[in-house]
Amino acid sequence: MKAVKYIAFALLAALIVSHIAFEPKKCEKTQFCLDTVVTLTAYGKGADKAIDKAFNRINEIEQKFSAYLKNSEIYKINHSPYNTFVKVDKEVFDLIERAIMFSDITDGAFDITLKPISDLWGIGTKNEKVPTDEEIKSALDKTGWRDVVLDKNTYAVKLKKEGMALDLGGIAKGYASDEAARVLGECGIKNACLDLGGNIVVRGEMPLGLFESIKCGKRSRPFTIGIQEPDAPRGESGQPVTVENGCVVTSGDYERFFEKDGERYHHIFDPKTGMPAKSGVRSATVIAKDGAVADALSTAFFVIGNDASGKYKEYYETVIFAK
Ligand code: AMP
Ligand code: MG
Repeated sequence: MKAVKYIAFALLAALIVSHIAFEPKKCEKTQFCLDTVVTLTAYGKGADKAIDKAFNRINEIEQKFSAYLKNSEIYKINHSPYNTFVKVDKEVFDLIERAIMFSDITDGAFDITLKPISDLWGIGTKNEKVPTDEEIKSALDKTGWRDVVLDKNTYAVKLKKEGMALDLGGIAKGYASDEAARVLGECGIKNACLDLGGNIVVRGEMPLGLFESIKCGKRSRPFTIGIQEPDAPRGESGQPVTVENGCVVTSGDYERFFEKDGERYHHIFDPKTGMPAKSGVRSATVIAKDGAVADALSTAFFVIGNDASGKYKEYYETVIFAK
């Protein structure tokens, strides 16, 4: 009888030890940066330090790309005399160049020169208002991606019209997500899920604990991302999609908005009208390999609407619209 007890005890101990040894090392950290809540989750040895490095990189990107931080490169461009070349950091130049490429291929639906328009509406600030037609017209006169001139030889940017200003809010989070994922990869992290305020990047798979592994017969399973339903409470999992080594980015009218006289005014603008885009969709979700691509295209597809998808097929894997 004693022997049976010993064996049972030994088996239990072995199970506990192997459970502890088997349990994947998970590290998850959250910070408020890029004007949003960013949660990085990584698995495996060194995940803790790797996440810190990834956050450093995200903060570095914010310092360069924010239109509002006084030491940023974008601030420098926006506050230099117009029609004059301003030398910028190479990575800033490169992202501006990519953003302009997306303006080109989306026939201007994606446009990083809309800052005069978003400042005018002030959505999400204490100054939010519905501007007059004259105000919108005058702000629109200060926009236009074709008036951004790039000199690749000197990494210099020129805004041709007085009052022009850049805002990379529609692409910078996606770029930051790519960079954060790259940093994790360099640290040897193979499995991670990064959430930069709804810009999701996935690397590898989600490792499973011992008991779940036994149940499924697998050591890991693909990450499942829930696409936010426009009217569901924020963070509540919506339609699930499975992703491996890719990005899922959603642009929606529920992210930042105010309501006046029964009308919803949100933060994604139609560059042709200077009004919050009204293409008949509530959100556009793009799944692509590259976060900056998914970010730019989700904003553009939200502006263009349902019929956007086919034309740009080579750049992304899937687009999902919510109406
Ligand atoms: P997202 O949430 O990625 O769709 O980006 C929205 C942000 O991008 C806004 O808060 C603005 O800063 C900026 N934005 C608004 N409309 C556009 C547009 N049509 N093209 C590019 N950026 C835009
Ligand atoms: Mg975007």
